Amino acid sequence: MPAATTCTTCPYCGVGCGVKVSLKEGRTIDVAGDADHPANRGRLCSKGTALGETVGLEGRLLTPRIGERAVTWDEAINAVALGLNRTIAEHGPDSVAFYLSGQLLTEDYYVANKLMKGFIGSANIDTNSRLCMASTVAGHKRAFGTDIVPGCYEDLEQADLVVLVGSNTAWCHPVLYQRIIAARTAAKRLVVIDPRRTATCDEADLHLPLKPGTDVRLMNGLFNHLLVKGHIDTPFVEQSTDGLSEILPALDRQDQSIAAVAADCGLEERQVAEFFDLFARTDKVVTLFSQGVNQSAAGTDKVNAIINCHLLTGRIGKPGMGPFSLTGQPNAMGGREVGGLANQLAAHMDFGPDDLQRVRRFWNAPRMAARPGLKAVEMFDAVLDGRIKALWIMGTNPAVSLPDGNRVRQALSACPLVIVSDCMEKTDTTRFAHILLPAKAWGEKNGTVTNSERRISRQRSFLPIPDGVRADWRIISDVARRMGFASAFPYTRAADVFREHAALSGFENDGARAFDISGLAGISDAEYDAFTPVQWPVTAAAPQGTARLARGRYFRERGKAFMAGVAGTPASANRLGDYPLLLNTGRIRDQWHTMTRTGLSPRLASHLPEPFVEIHPRDAEARGIADGDIVRLVSGRGKALLRAVVTDRQQPGSLFAPIHWSNSNAAQAVVGALIAPLCDPISGQPAFKQTAVALSRFKPAWSGYLFSRDDDLDERILRGLEIDYWTRIRLKAGFAYELADSRTASAEAMFSNLLDQDRRAEVIDFHDAGKRRHRWALLRDSRLSHCLMTAPPGDLPGRDMFADILNEHYNDVNKRVMLLSGCTNEPKEDKGPLVCSCFGVSLGTIVEAIASGKAASVEEIGTLLQAGTNCGSCRPELKSILTRELEEVAA
Ligand code: SF4
Repeated sequence: MPAATTCTTCPYCGVGCGVKVSLKEGRTIDVAGDADHPANRGRLCSKGTALGETVGLEGRLLTPRIGERAVTWDEAINAVALGLNRTIAEHGPDSVAFYLSGQLLTEDYYVANKLMKGFIGSANIDTNSRLCMASTVAGHKRAFGTDIVPGCYEDLEQADLVVLVGSNTAWCHPVLYQRIIAARTAAKRLVVIDPRRTATCDEADLHLPLKPGTDVRLMNGLFNHLLVKGHIDTPFVEQSTDGLSEILPALDRQDQSIAAVAADCGLEERQVAEFFDLFARTDKVVTLFSQGVNQSAAGTDKVNAIINCHLLTGRIGKPGMGPFSLTGQPNAMGGREVGGLANQLAAHMDFGPDDLQRVRRFWNAPRMAARPGLKAVEMFDAVLDGRIKALWIMGTNPAVSLPDGNRVRQALSACPLVIVSDCMEKTDTTRFAHILLPAKAWGEKNGTVTNSERRISRQRSFLPIPDGVRADWRIISDVARRMGFASAFPYTRAADVFREHAALSGFENDGARAFDISGLAGISDAEYDAFTPVQWPVTAAAPQGTARLARGRYFRERGKAFMAGVAGTPASANRLGDYPLLLNTGRIRDQWHTMTRTGLSPRLASHLPEPFVEIHPRDAEARGIADGDIVRLVSGRGKALLRAVVTDRQQPGSLFAPIHWSNSNAAQAVVGALIAPLCDPISGQPAFKQTAVALSRFKPAWSGYLFSRDDDLDERILRGLEIDYWTRIRLKAGFAYELADSRTASAEAMFSNLLDQDRRAEVIDFHDAGKRRHRWALLRDSRLSHCLMTAPPGDLPGRDMFADILNEHYNDVNKRVMLLSGCTNEPKEDKGPLVCSCFGVSLGTIVEAIASGKAASVEEIGTLLQAGTNCGSCRPELKSILTRELEEVAA
């Protein structure tokens, strides 16, 4: 009998792709893109394609714990309820806080928000979405009076000009990028505005590598250009907007000539002129923006500077045009809808007296929060200084992801009660928990999420539910009932919560609030189960949902939008003498957040396996740094050791490091520890893109590999020995640890520790003292349990040669000699890093195909090697490799 297929939604980025899953045996699944889902129409990126490798029970938290003790759910719920009630009784409602996540489902978010704001009586509830898109929310509210994304994904295909600002869409929202690329015709244009030359730029007609932090200057220059050249939709501006007269004097205070704008932004005049001209003469323009805009101390101003240009030209709310914010997380939008941010109340209502009364009545709430609570960074400050004494973290890893990570860890250590709900047992954050609550994971949960285009989709359960895990909405409801609020939290299924959420959105609304899904308030359980994706608002008047909003009717005074005069901040505001470089941070193609789930996939791990920092060749040369060296980054807040990638994709003076590595998989690679907690004054969103740092070469005495079947050698050995640099990489069987240390004797000490852990193993070793090459192998039944190889830095063979080292049998002398000489039994050629995760095609193989003349286009590479023919996430990289190699051949 064919396996039943479940339609669900990808748990990673804000594109919100539909996924079809067939459950085979146990927890083995087949995954395919859902051709009927409007977000992706059957496509999936490399992360979505690899979902099947991440649904095992490895690393899962499966039992509630109090301290080290496994407890029953009853005991755990009692402890949480008692702890919260006691803290509130002794120190007041504002002494407790919830820190949530864009990974939670809308139903989870709704119940948490209701408990905190309506029953505990505080608004100290914030979310990791604060780190992701809070500036967009603030910008939308300032411009439109409410948080609305005006357009839909089809606009990106219908546009004649797509402008991507601060968005590496090719890597961070790959399916949407592929939709844009697939819709391109000779007449359509793509412009990328980004200080880095990212993979997204490889398909662009124009890349503006502006100086970090000059986005507002550029967009204000564009606004002025549109004004001066007469590209104004005068009827629209007069009837539907306010603010133009206030912007004009602000613009006049600066030289808005193309030459001046170009000089301030570090761009060539011709680049700016081309962009301005293109924008001015193209009617159908979508400006899509993401974390490069949001994660800034002037993020809200950047958002408004973009929206202003669309309001001035009337290019909003019509097919193929509009400003478009891309959310990072799968349910950042759902969190916004329920009010899961400290400065919103619920269902897009704020803390005004009417809204407070309305929500109080709807919830029949005994103790409403009367004012906004603490935003993410403020919240952890309050934990550290003792104002917050009980903190419940759900589905997120703030010890890694928040700025000023060392201070966050201090705060978690100092907090009298830390409760963590998570599906994974060992994260950097769960280590601080007094009470651990095992939550359901993707494939077990049931509920809804909203993607970047306001489309609500279902996440559905299709895996066997492990004993001991519960849905987040249920955990919160259980706690709420135990705290004494049983009648307000009667939910028995996710659909109960969804119906209430939908009803609140329509409660006394009458068109006053944009977020209205009252058309779904009467949905039956069966209809909830069969729910198909729909864009809000969903009302009696628009039961099929609404593709586009924000055309001429806004939620401010007189129904008009507001063009806010914005100045941004000077680019060099936070550059310090001792820290001469600016560190930008972001995501990579094949990992998600802190790698607690994508890190389970060997396929995804092989794309960019180590924590790294990109450095411009000039900055590297000035510090004696070569590609592949280990380097030290130091800021005023922390330090990190990362692998150097020397590349002219960076601007001189700028660095880029990914956010994914934690203390659970690397020694010193938490880039959040480097980031100062500098926030946008309006949105409270931290600036992750411009941290002043110093860079230097780290000089290890040796470097090495440690191959092992164990994933916890960091805890058992590496930390105790204080090995300077290690990172754990997943292989198909076991793990590879990449190592480097400044002390000569530490390699031997590490082997002694390994031997202590495995006294019954057979030991074989080899030492070349002159060349300082050492090999130790521990064998059990002719198979490797551990193998340590050390050599002077740069003297080790490529890691990819050892991909199968733990699979082999070493039962004869020759094989053992080969092992100790640094070869596997079947000597393999080092093909370099993986480029195509789906078909396992490495850089070396692609370069060979191009050099042989057999592949002269991305399509021909696909025909020859299959690379890029499945999810397509690597196609921008293939194009870049092709361009580089063909240029070399031509030279
Ligand atoms: Fe998931 Fe990739 Fe789609 Fe994002 S683009 S939702 S990560 S499949």
